[in-house]
Amino acid sequence: MKRMLSSTDVLVIGGGAAGLLCAIEAGKRGRRVVVLEHNREIGRKIVISGGGRCNFTNLHTRAENFLSGNPHFAKSALARYTPQDFLRLVERHGIPYHEKTLGQLFCDRSARDIVFMLEAECAAAGVRIETACPVRTVARNSGFVVDSGQGIWEAKSLVIATGGLSIPRMGATSFGYDIARQFGLNVLECHPALVPVTFGRPDQAKYSGLAGVSAEVVVAAGKCRFREKMLFTHRGLSGPAILQASSYWKTGGFLEIDLLPDVDLVSRLRERRSAGDCSETRTIVSRFLPKRLTDRWFELHSPSKPVAMVGDREIETIARGLREWRVEPAGTEGFEKAEVTAGGVDTAELSSKTMEARKVLGLYFVGEVVDVTGQLGGFNFQWAWASGYSAGQAV
Ligand SMILES: Cc1cc2nc3c(=O)[nH]c(=O)nc-3n(C[C@H](O)[C@H](O)[C@H](O)COP(=O)(O)OP(=O)(O)OC[C@H]3O[C@@H](n4cnc5c(N)ncnc54)[C@H](O)[C@@H]3O)c2cc1C
Repeated sequence: MKRMLSSTDVLVIGGGAAGLLCAIEAGKRGRRVVVLEHNREIGRKIVISGGGRCNFTNLHTRAENFLSGNPHFAKSALARYTPQDFLRLVERHGIPYHEKTLGQLFCDRSARDIVFMLEAECAAAGVRIETACPVRTVARNSGFVVDSGQGIWEAKSLVIATGGLSIPRMGATSFGYDIARQFGLNVLECHPALVPVTFGRPDQAKYSGLAGVSAEVVVAAGKCRFREKMLFTHRGLSGPAILQASSYWKTGGFLEIDLLPDVDLVSRLRERRSAGDCSETRTIVSRFLPKRLTDRWFELHSPSKPVAMVGDREIETIARGLREWRVEPAGTEGFEKAEVTAGGVDTAELSSKTMEARKVLGLYFVGEVVDVTGQLGGFNFQWAWASGYSAGQAV
């Protein structure tokens, strides 16, 4: 049976954060917009984000919060659509929110509030949304011809907003990268980011008993340092500090972890020694670090003894060991557990103002599919909104 060909001005493939914002803006400009989403509902990642509360933006968003082959690329879009712009939208819809920490804004009630808001904005802008509609192929005529599960569509402008590879069970596909390659655009290698790391066998044997223990630490990967919580898991390390560092970690490299960022341990131990304290070194350290972690660390690295019996050099070795703990991860938990995908459509192929492919007029890429990856804290959504907005003004 021959399927019907429908035509519109703008086709957006992917009903996630970036695609929906783009569709809303284009619709407001009077464009006829259709969003094709292969899940049964739009915005599934929004619903699970931020532990169900969606950290929808960060008030302190700057280009420095993003990882990209071109660190300047995101600036234009981020300036055109700011966290305050998105916040105005949230406030206009009466969605209660709060600042958790460091400019991170979360919904008070549920991440679904953001999805309902985007849905309402789409309806107001006359955007048509087709769900359960997986796009399979894209071909070129004077515009683009798109074959979806529910029919064939034709449009002058095509926006690829299909996200990255993280969490395949939520509908993540490589579709956006495949289309970029099909049209001759360069795609930078993708890897999981904001992801727990795994220990190699020896470290797993040493530390897996600490699963569930957490501490505030500073984790350095290359030149980037993050001070936040770290969590031991059965297979390795997680928690915000590790997720942040994972985006900058490269296979074969190491993470350097300061387990006592606020403590001048050398002075503390010397002080206790001069005061004639009979406590063991590990008892003193356990005042600053979880006891299970302290005990394991001393078992592995330094026999604990009364501080009165510890010489200067040994004190320095203990302090250095705790402040410069080097971990060489065997790998990461992969796309199954990664919050985002680093790498993607090379920004050199796109206009930073409109997100349009330089070589293929009418073809746009927005959101996570582009090689712009935010740090943890609401930056990835801000990139999705900002890049979606920029394309929405141009399609
Ligand atoms: C567990 C988790 C928590 C997160 N929490 C936060 C947070 O609190 N704050 C933050 O800033 N970021 C967070 N992120 C990251 C954030 O969710 C993403 O960066 C953001 O959703 C990217 O938006 P996007 O529109 O580019 O892609 P997506 O939201 O992934 O949307 C892409 C859409 O395209 C659809 N699609 C894919 N292929 C096809 C196809 N062939 N045909 C039709 N449709 C297709 C998908 O089903 C999907 O709906 C989190 C991510 C995860 C996994």
